[in-house]
Amino acid sequence: MEITLEEAFAGKDMEINVPIAEDCERCDGIGAEPGAKVETCSTCGGAGRVRTQQGFFTMERPCSTCGGQGEYVSNPCTSCDGQGQQRVETTLDVSIPAGVEDGTRIRLTGQGDAAPKRQGGGARGDLYLFISLKPHELFERDSANLYCRAPMTMTTAALGGEIEIPTIDGGRSKVKIPEGSQSGKRMRLKGKGMSVLRSNARGDMYVELSVETPTKLTKRQRELLQEFESESGRDTSPASENFLGKAKRFWEGLTD
Ligand SMILES: [Zn+2]
Ligand SMILES: [Zn+2]
Repeated sequence: MEITLEEAFAGKDMEINVPIAEDCERCDGIGAEPGAKVETCSTCGGAGRVRTQQGFFTMERPCSTCGGQGEYVSNPCTSCDGQGQQRVETTLDVSIPAGVEDGTRIRLTGQGDAAPKRQGGGARGDLYLFISLKPHELFERDSANLYCRAPMTMTTAALGGEIEIPTIDGGRSKVKIPEGSQSGKRMRLKGKGMSVLRSNARGDMYVELSVETPTKLTKRQRELLQEFESESGRDTSPASENFLGKAKRFWEGLTD
């Protein structure tokens, strides 16, 4: 069963339709038409196996008349084709707990297939549900923690400011961007991650910032940036200056 990350976060009560094996009502699980009887197979005498002589050897194989059942329905039930069971579309209530992970197995005890009456009956089987999570557009999950990649404009990164980040509970968190923030900067929003299975705890959310380089500049914007560039130097872009210094030393080392 596929659920969304939001559903895994909050948990969900839902109804599902599953084809579950039930004893056939028409023949009461026997496989014979009402009134007809299950007869002992005359070919194998009820053993389900027949012996054949092949040269000196005696071989045993399943009886082909009764299919190894030892019984034979001369007049098979028209509703279940003599099988004794049918799959019935059944609506079940399922409670998916908050915090489920991709691949979590949920067991519905005694809600699986009915034990065939023809083979002695007994308790119903269990039904297992396997949960898989749909990928999310904004968040990536690592157990209890969530990761979100958020772009910020070049000016916000340089001047500082605030951006709004959506949270898995449907809310929003304001994140303060310090002046001079670089791409790859990680901010931790404590307690804004996923819910934890069978616990009230919540993981954290990590926001990874990336600077968006402006595109489709107007003539005026281009002029402003060129003017900005002419005012820039060692202090404005220390990483670039530092890199250039290292590169110079590298080239000089080669000529020695
Ligand atoms: Zn037989
Ligand atoms: Zn039947």
